[in-house]
Amino acid sequence: MADPTGFLRVPKVEAAKRPVDERIGDWREVYERQNPHERAGEVAQQARRCMDCGIPFCHSGTAGCPLGNLIPEWNDLVRRGRWDAASDRLHATNNFPEFTGRLCPAPCEAACVLSISEEQTGGSVTIKRIEQTIADQAWLDGTVEPQPAAISTGKSVAVVGSGPAGLAAAQQLTRAGHDVTVYERDDRLGGLLRYGIPEYKLEKSVLDQRLAQMRAEGTRFVTECEVGVDLSVEQLRARHQAVVLAVGALRARDNDVPGRDLAGVHLAMDHLVPANRECEGDGPSPLSAAGRHVVIIGGGDTGADCLGTAHRQGAKSVTQLDYNPEPPGTRDESLSPWPTWPLVLRTSPAHAEGGARHFEVAVQRFIGDDTGHLRAMEIAEVRVTRDAEGRRQITPVGESLEIPCDLALLAIGFEGVEHMALLDGLGLQLNGRGAVPCGSDWQTDAPGVFVCGDAHRGASLVVWAIAEGRSAAHAVDAYLMGESDLPAPVRPGVLPLAVV
Ligand SMILES: Cc1cc2nc3c(=O)[nH]c(=O)nc-3n(C[C@H](O)[C@H](O)[C@H](O)COP(=O)(O)OP(=O)(O)OC[C@H]3O[C@@H](n4cnc5c(N)ncnc54)[C@H](O)[C@@H]3O)c2cc1C
Ligand code: SF4
Repeated sequence: MADPTGFLRVPKVEAAKRPVDERIGDWREVYERQNPHERAGEVAQQARRCMDCGIPFCHSGTAGCPLGNLIPEWNDLVRRGRWDAASDRLHATNNFPEFTGRLCPAPCEAACVLSISEEQTGGSVTIKRIEQTIADQAWLDGTVEPQPAAISTGKSVAVVGSGPAGLAAAQQLTRAGHDVTVYERDDRLGGLLRYGIPEYKLEKSVLDQRLAQMRAEGTRFVTECEVGVDLSVEQLRARHQAVVLAVGALRARDNDVPGRDLAGVHLAMDHLVPANRECEGDGPSPLSAAGRHVVIIGGGDTGADCLGTAHRQGAKSVTQLDYNPEPPGTRDESLSPWPTWPLVLRTSPAHAEGGARHFEVAVQRFIGDDTGHLRAMEIAEVRVTRDAEGRRQITPVGESLEIPCDLALLAIGFEGVEHMALLDGLGLQLNGRGAVPCGSDWQTDAPGVFVCGDAHRGASLVVWAIAEGRSAAHAVDAYLMGESDLPAPVRPGVLPLAVV
């Protein structure tokens, strides 16, 4: 039985962050590394704040956790110090809670009943922190062990792409007894977990320990293999009875304002990938922000990751531009009523590390020096409106202003799945959102070929990638075996929470 008045006695306490000066001097995670015993005690108190409200909006539905994490159950187990049992309940619905516990924007917390009236309750249960602590504690205690399948079905499945969607599908299918091979075109596994998301948000050792578990369970991995090029579609089809496309939505949106072709104007991923490679020991980034005036175009999460990366590289100044108006600091019930995801100003730890953030401002042109290198940027205040067809119109208002800039990073989102030989070979077309469409069984127009994650939703979130990978695994298992006991937490077609 949960503690019905715990939230009245225990104040909400988030994980402590390291001082800014210290954390921008290295790439380690921004949070303090607490003594595990003290952390367990503190987090058990936080779990006490969950009253088990009866209708836990946090754990399911379009507003709560896409994975259907059994939040009130594991909160109660943590409160009672039953960490092993809490880990079992958490892993029952989530293959990788150590990723979501660090990276998820936590729609569950926005949907928590304690979020209805934050002044009275002190705010939501710290669900994400509790999730991460359960996961980290389990790894520390050595209870996250390989779970090899008891039987072999003799069926072979290819998973193309090793991001969180592909990894979740692969782990589920391996545990169901199929012979699973994950093909990845990069030299290392993990998709955006490896080369998009910076080390200070997810230390890659956290990813590597999970990959080691998957290898021990029997999942095979082939890197530096672009399916459709290094392995033909005919070879793929001949080797495997089913294929899961988890190829992401990595076609970056670009900007054609005058001066775009100057040296020093780059896409965000051109900056983030080599920074992550440097952390992997591949040598200095060729696109370091060290000593440069950096301007990030785009106010979303990818822009915030560029901000944190630029500070760690020693940028002279960092400015982030967003053409949208500044959102309100607290939920506006008329725009986004509880328990939906609120439209509020989001301040990531990177924003607290410095830099300027401007709203309703957009670049008008990039200005070069005599050598063709970017030296400044012209910006203007803008207003965003919609035309009769609903298309966004961005209109400059007032004076333009020149600001120094010798590194401009475009972090303005992703348009969808990249055009690739694999899709052509399978005869698959993208839909209007740039994604690979599928039926209600996750199967594409190519028989035996399934899709999940960003490739199906468009650019989204790690939690959705895992949820879709699990659901697609259920569909593949049913396709191969006639029925499946694997869980299917989500259906195709639920609209994404966008991350840009
Ligand atoms: C900079 C950045 C930061 C983000 N931060 C967060 C965050 O903090 N929290 C959050 O929840 N979400 C975040 N996201 C979103 C999240 O990373 C994605 O939603 C998630 O990784 C999608 O998983 P996926 O498996 O579908 O695709 P991806 O992670 O994109 O993986 C796709 C993989 O497929 C491989 N591939 C593609 N084509 C082929 C082929 N033909 N053959 C072989 N391999 C192929 C690619 O190389 C890639 O490794 C962020 C995204 C970006 C860009
Ligand atoms: S995965 Fe995300 S939404 Fe689900 S419980 Fe964890 S933090 Fe909440």
